[in-house]
Amino acid sequence: MLAEAARAPEREICGLLFGTSGEHVAAAHSCANVAADPSRAFEIDPLALIAAHKAQRGGGPNLIGWYHSHPNGRPEPSPCDRDAANEVGKLWLIIAQGNVRAWRATGAGTLLEIPLELVD
Ligand SMILES: [Zn+2]
Repeated sequence: MLAEAARAPEREICGLLFGTSGEHVAAAHSCANVAADPSRAFEIDPLALIAAHKAQRGGGPNLIGWYHSHPNGRPEPSPCDRDAANEVGKLWLIIAQGNVRAWRATGAGTLLEIPLELVD
């Protein structure tokens, strides 16, 4: 994710996070950012989202959240991010300034920062 963000300093990169529980990210899949202005916003390719939900229903990995980058360097969720945080429990990883921070959607429009631990 960090490398992907570093390669795209002028647009938000984004992708899906998969894991066996809401606490542990096992895989991150890069997706197309289909936002009208990808330099200021992200919108994960809806086809990728649909495919992930379908796969999960079929016994595949759980979709536990998504990641995106902030080329402006601000590490906190933007007002747009908070507006979009309507799926309670989902994990939001935000990449800015070469760091990743983690937030959890705890209610409509509410993202609470949670500690992030990197493990092998
Ligand atoms: Zn954002």
